[in-house]
Order: sequence, then C-alpha cells, then structure tokens
Amino acid sequence: MGIVSERALAAAASFNTVRDFFFTSRYGERRGEASICDLTFGNPHEFPLPGLVESIQRRAVPENKNWFAYKTSEEEPRAFLAERLTDELGMAFGPDDIALTTGAFGAISLAFGLVLMPGDEVVVPIPGWFCYEPMLRLMGAVAVEARLGPEGFDLDLNAIDAAIGPRTRMVVVNSPHNPTGRIYSREDLVALADLLEQASKRIGRRIILLSDEPYRRIRFDNAPFVSPAALYPWTLIDYSYGKVLLAPGQRIGYLAISPLMPADDRSVLRDAMFSTQMAQGWTFPNAVMQYAIPDLESLSMDLDALAARRDRLFDALTGYGYEVIRPRGTFYLFSRTPGGDGDRFFNELADRDVFVIPGSILKTPGYFRACLTANDDMIERSLPAFREAMAVLKPTHDR
Ligand code: PLP
Repeated sequence: MGIVSERALAAAASFNTVRDFFFTSRYGERRGEASICDLTFGNPHEFPLPGLVESIQRRAVPENKNWFAYKTSEEEPRAFLAERLTDELGMAFGPDDIALTTGAFGAISLAFGLVLMPGDEVVVPIPGWFCYEPMLRLMGAVAVEARLGPEGFDLDLNAIDAAIGPRTRMVVVNSPHNPTGRIYSREDLVALADLLEQASKRIGRRIILLSDEPYRRIRFDNAPFVSPAALYPWTLIDYSYGKVLLAPGQRIGYLAISPLMPADDRSVLRDAMFSTQMAQGWTFPNAVMQYAIPDLESLSMDLDALAARRDRLFDALTGYGYEVIRPRGTFYLFSRTPGGDGDRFFNELADRDVFVIPGSILKTPGYFRACLTANDDMIERSLPAFREAMAVLKPTHDR
C-alpha cells in the first residue's frame, strides 16, 4: 500500500476527468490566453465589482487589536444574516442556525462532516456539480447518482426514490441548477419533501436534505425561487457569495439550518457546528470577509448584463439549430451537442479558439455547458465558431 490514503485516491479517481480537462487538455494548454473565448468555468473575465474592492480595503483596516485574531463564526455577521435570511426566505432564522464558511465548498464540507458516517450514502443529481463525489469519497462516504429527468432535466422523483437505500443519510438538491439553469418549482419540492418523509420512514433513519443554493440570487426574468428548507424541515442550506459577486476566490458563504427543523434535531446540529468546523480546520472564513458581510449582502454582479448574454447566446445557438435549455438562473447554458460526438464537437470549437465544458465531464455525454461569465467580446467572437461547428457536424439535411 502506498502513502496516499485510499480515500484520497478514490477522491482523485472521481476528479480525474476535471483535473485533466483543466491542466492537460487543449483547454488546459491555452487557458489564460487572451485570444481564446473561455466559456468553461464560472470565473470572472472582467474587473471585479468596485463595491467589493472598496469593502475589502475598508474592512482590512484594523479597528481594534483583535481585528485579525482567530475567527470562528462571528456574532455580528451571524445576527445580520439571520435577519436577512428571515426576510429573504420567509422563515425565522436565529444567529445560531448559521455557520459562516469558506464559500459553499466549506458549507458543503461542514454539512457532510455534521451528519455523515463512513459508508453513509448521499444521493446526488446527474448532471450536476462535479465536486460532491470527490468530497464524499474523501470522507469515506458514498455518492449515489440520481439522474435528472430525460427531457428538460426535471427532478426525477422515481430516480431519487430508487437511489435511496438503508445507508442513505442525505439527498442533495441544487436549485438554481448547475449546469441546466433549471429552478425547481414549489410543486416539485413539495413532492420531494413528501418523498423524503416517506423514504425516511421506510429506511428507519432521517434523511437530511442539503439544499445547495449558491446561485439563489442569480435568476432571470424575475423567476421565483423556493428554498426546499421551507418545505422539508430537515434541510441544511449552503450558500456562497462567490457566484453573485463573481469573486469565487474570496471564499465566503454559510451553512444554515432550516428553522422548521424540530427543536431537538435543530439544537444538536447547532451545538455540533462549532466543533465540527474546528475539527475541519479550514471551513471558517477569514476575518476580513466576515466583517465585509453587511456590504456583500447588498452587492451583486450585473444580472441584467448576464441576462442579456444569456439571451444573445441562447438566441444565436437556437438559430443555428442547437437544442438549448433556456436557463432561468445560474451562469450556465446547457445544450445538446450537434451530431452527438462530444470530443469532435469540443475539437471543432477548440480549432476556432472557443472552449466549453464537454458533457462527459458532467456525466452527461451528448451535451455541453457554456458559461455566461465570459465577457461580451468572447460571446460575440464565439458565435461564428458555434455556427461553423453545427454546419460541420450536422449538415442541413440531417437537421
Ligand atoms: N455548488 C455548486 C452547484 C457549484 O456550482 C459550486 C461552484 O461552482 C459550488 C457549490 C461551490 O461554490 P463556491 O466555490 O463558491 O464555494
């Protein structure tokens, strides 16, 4: 046996496709070059929000000797967020329901650490974010995949039910959803809550719902949003400011317990949050970002500009014959690959300096994801490449 743990090797194995794409693929070779149209990951391609820069600068100036002392979840931002979340989601959050974390990554790790034992199973959506599984494997837990519906990627309750077994402890729901941009309706979530209630009874253990909501504020056309935390009491919400501020490197977010959770369970979770974060060692955000929370709450990337980019790319691609899902939120546009051969399509685009995420990386070959955080210039420059790739891969008589 080698010196790297089996858990680390298992995590690496499930992350290999993403790692190879990022470091060694044709994208990896050209990443960062100004001449490419980078429609891959949700990274900024413009200068940061001035309000964010100003807040970090201001909050970095010490106001007392403890300014940069060790930080856990500070009282002030917790109390501030409890009020804000109460307004936004219409439930009475208390400061103790909220743990400040290093983005959604930290909040998800905390949620996993709080409730999972080695061997426990967690149901995750496919297509979906590619880090749930490696994170679970590193903890000795098991990701069980539940495919979203075949047409339109609805929540597939039958698939979720079938994925639940005696070792299930958690089900992850991500809305607005990466990569499809779908936002699940109240009706869908009520049905899910009912399913989880029945399934918890059937397996004789309480299933926790993790509502992964980092894109909650990135919605188009005034699309309504309902948090599953309002419908299923055993819900933990994770959130990140990295998306709405388009500053994912600044690592700030939170985990919040649904106020509807019965008092006994809510209280043991509240009690365990501090020690679990201490034991993890890295999930508390740094001091400056915690002080900045009241500023961050009222800042946002330009959602109108994002929506305009969504429209521009969606209209152009559908005009060329692509079958695109019209996103209601998130940074992403998910589309069928013309001709169905993902590698060939990726290469046709790459030959023309345009890069997208192949669906195979999201375990959904036959599709690709284009990210709208590319700047307007990149989007414009990418359009002829999309048109030509369609013409090459699906000549008109095939369509
Ligand atoms: N959950 C989903 C669905 C995501 O897409 C991401 C980031 O891409 C995260 C969680 C992690 O968010 P953050 O990097 O802001 O912590």
